[in-house]
Amino acid sequence: MQTIEIGKSGQMSSRLAYGCMRLAGDNGTVEERERGKAAVRAAIESGYTLFDHADIYGAGACEEVFGEVLAESPGVRDELIIQSKCGIRFEDIHRYDFSKSWIVGSVENSLQRLGIEQLDLLLLHRPDYLMSLEETAAAFDELHSAGKVAAFGVSNFLPSTLSALQSATPHRLQVNQVEINLHNIEALHNGVLDQCQAERITPQAWCPLAGIAWEAWGNTFSVEQSARLQAEARRQADHYGVEKWLIALAWLLRHPANISPIIGSTTPARIAAATAALGIDYSREDWYRLLEARNGEAVP
Ligand code: NAP
Repeated sequence: MQTIEIGKSGQMSSRLAYGCMRLAGDNGTVEERERGKAAVRAAIESGYTLFDHADIYGAGACEEVFGEVLAESPGVRDELIIQSKCGIRFEDIHRYDFSKSWIVGSVENSLQRLGIEQLDLLLLHRPDYLMSLEETAAAFDELHSAGKVAAFGVSNFLPSTLSALQSATPHRLQVNQVEINLHNIEALHNGVLDQCQAERITPQAWCPLAGIAWEAWGNTFSVEQSARLQAEARRQADHYGVEKWLIALAWLLRHPANISPIIGSTTPARIAAATAALGIDYSREDWYRLLEARNGEAVP
């Protein structure tokens, strides 16, 4: 597994991250949780060292499942980068909340569920329109000085919001985790990847396989568009001698901003197989061909 530095944090992690959103399945049954634990073990065995959580995944159950694996595997925690997110609240009413008390309380609950002393990275999950820069910065200070969070980042932030928050805190924002896949290419146009590359912030891509392996959230593809994209992905998969879904990862990995795709499968064989994408010598020509197949027209 290739490794990269996360932002300029000095923390090294696997290039592919493992996403823990699906670890408790749909209902958190015993069988689903066991499947989740097997997925985590498969990811560790396959060389993933960066694990992405959020306080809301499975209403906390995903962090618990992960914590059980850690408890059963003494010594493993120190080899991993454990990242969680906060700022979305579901338990009363669906709102974003970057108040200091909510951020600090959320992290304390995550640490308890994970059974660890410190998060290696904390990301703010989605921008709170009512974010007070001063209050958010104060939450970071408190968590960092208490040793509860080592480093910080954001998710689903536009560059202007990231810069505004950065101006208020001495803690460097090391990550912007956004949706990037062959259905959603906004990050190519909205400045997120430009900022990440220019400022050496690590872009993490959520739902990396959407549009190729499965229908994206809010799918807008027509039947023709999808068929065109699948046909080009098929051609490329045959050319590179890999499974078709790996082309979606190669397309992300080719970008010079050093995107870290977050693999969300709970199937051990797929978790292991995803690492093969790192070995594809993917060409600039094919990158553009796939984009043009998606768009249905040549770039201008
Ligand atoms: P994904 O890797 O694109 O999708 C995983 C899903 O695709 C699973 O249901 C998996 O099924 C299925 N799949 C994988 N390979 C497949 C194949 N070859 N053919 C058919 N189906 C296939 O990513 P994701 O799980 O949607 O998201 C990844 C991570 O991103 C999450 O775990 C979470 O950590 C993060 N995330 C962040 C945000 C945010 O707002 N920051 C939002 C969403 C997600 P199996 O499990 O059955 O293999």
